[in-house]
Amino acid sequence: RQAEFARLRDTPAITLDGKRIQLLTNAGLAVDLDNLDQTGAEGIGLFRTEFQFMVSEELPRLDAQTNLYRKVLDTAGDRPVTFRTLDIGGDKVLPYLEAEREENPALGRRAIRLGLDRPGLLRLQLRALLSAAEGRELRVMFPMIATVDEFRAARELVDVECAWARRRGRSLPSLLRVGAMIECPSLLWHLDALLPLTDFVSVGTNDLLQYMFAADRTNPLVSDRYDPLSPPALRALAEIQRKCAETGTPVSVCGELAGRPLEAFALLTLGYTRLSAPAAGVGPVKRMCLSTDLGQAQRAMTSLLGLSAGSIRNEIESLARKLNVVL
Ligand code: PEP
Ligand code: MG
Repeated sequence: RQAEFARLRDTPAITLDGKRIQLLTNAGLAVDLDNLDQTGAEGIGLFRTEFQFMVSEELPRLDAQTNLYRKVLDTAGDRPVTFRTLDIGGDKVLPYLEAEREENPALGRRAIRLGLDRPGLLRLQLRALLSAAEGRELRVMFPMIATVDEFRAARELVDVECAWARRRGRSLPSLLRVGAMIECPSLLWHLDALLPLTDFVSVGTNDLLQYMFAADRTNPLVSDRYDPLSPPALRALAEIQRKCAETGTPVSVCGELAGRPLEAFALLTLGYTRLSAPAAGVGPVKRMCLSTDLGQAQRAMTSLLGLSAGSIRNEIESLARKLNVVL
């Protein structure tokens, strides 16, 4: 199997009926960069910047952050990289960063909430990103955006840091794209307001589904109680895709779902064409894409979404098997 995936490494992911799918990978540390060449991923759709902070004994300084980001961009070369700003808080605690005790950390001051409350932290990171990307492309996105105001405020900090760099005579990135992660269900009903403010969005299905189904993703007692391959989850994802297509907003899915062939098959049928998967998922998902007649699958999927079952996993799997999709 590994040999088969290695053979597919340089084959673009194109469905049987000619739809081009962009397959990216998730990364978080310098050691993950080897995965780019090994898997043949077309870029990094989610770089989890908090990993550097989590393996460090103290707050990484500006130059340590800049060096890592520069190394990532150097290694990626022409392949796009999307950096996600710090996602700490919740279950990711940093021993050297003082945090309040919270009853419900997953619903607490995590990710962008912390970044906006402690703008010094976020600004330092943005400064490092801008400096690493001088003269080249920079894509940066914010995690756990729950309201458009949060996105606006975060984006303003990018502007502030650009102005800071300009005042010091630094070059800015040749292209700067600022996006939001869609991980909070609140955004589902505010995409009309959010999308015009963003350059792109990425759907973090791990968190989006945890919050939609109110089931802690880290708690095995409840994390398996719902199925992502269910009408409510898939309809939500379909709605995001539809709104993005309507507004011409580039959208990807970067949660674990994107790395599982059956789930990724479902995402394709909903219209997603950009997936960022864990490294181990890139080969299997590419093989699925290469064996899928998307037009046919899409027509069949429309009726499945209308079913009144808690899970339509079996139905989707039967459909995929009937169409000879390799899962
Ligand atoms: C997600 O929530 O789906 C996601 C990609 O972010 P993380 O898993 O790092 O929370
Ligand atoms: Mg998340």
